[in-house]
Amino acid sequence: HTTPGRDASLRERAAKVVPGGMYGHLNAAIFTPAYPQFFVRGEGCRQWDADGREYVDLMCSWGPMILGHRHPAVEEAAAAQRAQGDCLNGPGPVMVELAELMVDTIPSADWVMFSKNGTDATTQALMVARAATGRDKVLVAHGAYHGADPWCTPSTAGTTAAERADLVEYPYNDLEGAEAAAGYADGEVAAILATPFKHDSFEDQEPVDPAFARGLRALADRIGAALVLDDVRAGFRLDPRGSWEPLGVRPDLTAWSKAMGNGYAIAAVTGADALRGAAQTLYSTGSFWFSAVPMAAAKATIETLRDIGGVALMERAGARLREGLAAQAAAHGFTVRQTGPVQIPWLSFEGDATLEKGMHWASACLEEGVYLHPWHNWFMSAAHTDADVDRALAGTDAAFAKLRARYGGD
Ligand code: PMP
Repeated sequence: HTTPGRDASLRERAAKVVPGGMYGHLNAAIFTPAYPQFFVRGEGCRQWDADGREYVDLMCSWGPMILGHRHPAVEEAAAAQRAQGDCLNGPGPVMVELAELMVDTIPSADWVMFSKNGTDATTQALMVARAATGRDKVLVAHGAYHGADPWCTPSTAGTTAAERADLVEYPYNDLEGAEAAAGYADGEVAAILATPFKHDSFEDQEPVDPAFARGLRALADRIGAALVLDDVRAGFRLDPRGSWEPLGVRPDLTAWSKAMGNGYAIAAVTGADALRGAAQTLYSTGSFWFSAVPMAAAKATIETLRDIGGVALMERAGARLREGLAAQAAAHGFTVRQTGPVQIPWLSFEGDATLEKGMHWASACLEEGVYLHPWHNWFMSAAHTDADVDRALAGTDAAFAKLRARYGGD
């Protein structure tokens, strides 16, 4: 069932009542005209746009959908809580249950503070670090995304220089660079902030060098700063215990959000005992931060991921997609690079510095019913079955064929 023109008409109306018609990372105007702006439905790993077109979803709403849209266990838990109430005069018992589940699941976590968005969590983590150390400076990797508050938004519009004055940049995976940055901010560093791997937009993804992660841990200990892992994007997809747990590197503080509630609005900071007292001193809160429905959804999401072996399912789907794409690219005469963990994949074309080829290919994928992104990493979910991946691959193959007709290969 399709309603042609509905997206266009909604955009026209939005342009009159919403700045720019839409803003931020979900603004379809920053992609090609093929990208729909409005969506009306999601089910498993499929989404439908306002014109009724169906897509195999390889973006998972930019990360949140980790079990698939409308997952029964999550929806049942949310509905049961909703029937009792959501936004009350205080948190529900579910806050304690969710915090206990996270402390039991995440070895670096002795306590949890809840909020709504990833930016809340990264900002709150820095506040804890500053309260604990009495220092101002924060080491951040050049080009890394940590959210959209004035201290971290990639566009400086509407921000002041003072709001960023305490950031000192280091190059990701370069321990000497991080040590130099710490030296530059001599004695003033409250926190070292890092993502679990390099997942900056517009460029190939890069795994973390384990020696770098261990080096950051040692550096933080040496200078008395908190090591803060921004696990907002990768959290729950790589390892339910935290993305650096397989490396044996335990952060002092970790920021979580995106996939935590399978689409329900929730974020968290987890921390080590040594920072519990500092965390307690913050005035950090929000009208909706303690709503019970998203907490019930998060508890069900984390339990379900554990019970079904969610990470392995995403790895399987991601590996199947990666293998299929590699074979298709080669068959159509394109050299591509596929980077990032298979469950948080991205594909770029050799010699495509302007990402023009990538844009054309992504648009062609959309026309073939596959939703993915030309310059931001994609996300797999536990709902992607072999058949879904094969359906996606049928679309990407047709898109490579269209690209070959245009460019004739590399
Ligand atoms: N940190 C990272 C690594 C992210 O990927 C994001 C969101 N893309 C954020 C922080 C901010 O999260 P939110 O958009 O929910 O505020």
